[in-house]
Amino acid sequence: MQIFKEKALLTTYLKTIWDKNCAIGFIPTMGALHQGHLSLIKKSLDENNYNVVSIFVNPTQFNNSQDLEKYPRTLEIDIEKIRTICPDCIVFAPSVDDIYEGKTNSKSFNYDGIEHEMEGKHRPGHFDGVGTIVKKLFEIVKPTNAYFGEKDFQQLQIVKKLVAKNDLKVNIIGCPIFRESNGLAMSSRNERLSIKDRDEASIIYKTLLTAKEKFGTKSANEVNNWVKNSLEKNENITLEYFEIADETTLKTCIRKSKNKKYRAFIAVFIDNIRLIDNISLN
Ligand code: AMP
Repeated sequence: MQIFKEKALLTTYLKTIWDKNCAIGFIPTMGALHQGHLSLIKKSLDENNYNVVSIFVNPTQFNNSQDLEKYPRTLEIDIEKIRTICPDCIVFAPSVDDIYEGKTNSKSFNYDGIEHEMEGKHRPGHFDGVGTIVKKLFEIVKPTNAYFGEKDFQQLQIVKKLVAKNDLKVNIIGCPIFRESNGLAMSSRNERLSIKDRDEASIIYKTLLTAKEKFGTKSANEVNNWVKNSLEKNENITLEYFEIADETTLKTCIRKSKNKKYRAFIAVFIDNIRLIDNISLN
């Protein structure tokens, strides 16, 4: 396994690979790796000659300094997890200075309005930070294919827009959500949940499954009301938002249309830890 902590050393190494005209798979992560991340790496392994995993907690996409501070950092364990499934992987774990060169700021991006919905409303500046780091990493790695989880579905759509608008030469591949056995979507933030909280958090996916069933016969508004009322009963859980939205534009569904694909999105706090999830409704 090749491990690089500086972009200059990584690019010197990658030059020999770019020249070969091989497929390079890229999996950007913020570390604290779990089975969800590993499922992306496995998909990349199946589809590429070389695989680059980045581990970088990107400060510009955090709108809450405490969340950034408390984000788990487990580089050595992460490297061992990658090694077990991909001994030939190239790991890129740079410092903030190496990436931002003393200017830890976001660029501003226009994603045709997708950035103003859901996560965009509740995490100001988040998608500018995501665009900034993803573009920088694409420019460093120059991957053929890049793998993103549907767990962060809005982010996946944002990255697709970023690529289209900037004419970047990379295929964006969405990967299904990997879940704990109780249905909770795997997330690095789950590590901060107590065992009791993890157990209670299974209600998020159960709520999405019931919302999906109800959306078959009820309006989006009726489903919204049902979700709000049913989660209100749970004292330990605070609902930030629940939205049924068009899968492509991410605009709120007011009236159902047969030709459109919809997805339900949810964000909740459990014990001050923010968790998100989503489900396809079609
Ligand atoms: P993160 O380290 O949270 O920035 O995530 C890195 C990548 O892994 C992103 O593309 C996420 O969407 C993806 N990811 C995170 N959790 C999961 C999961 N439970 N299932 C599938 N992909 C995931």
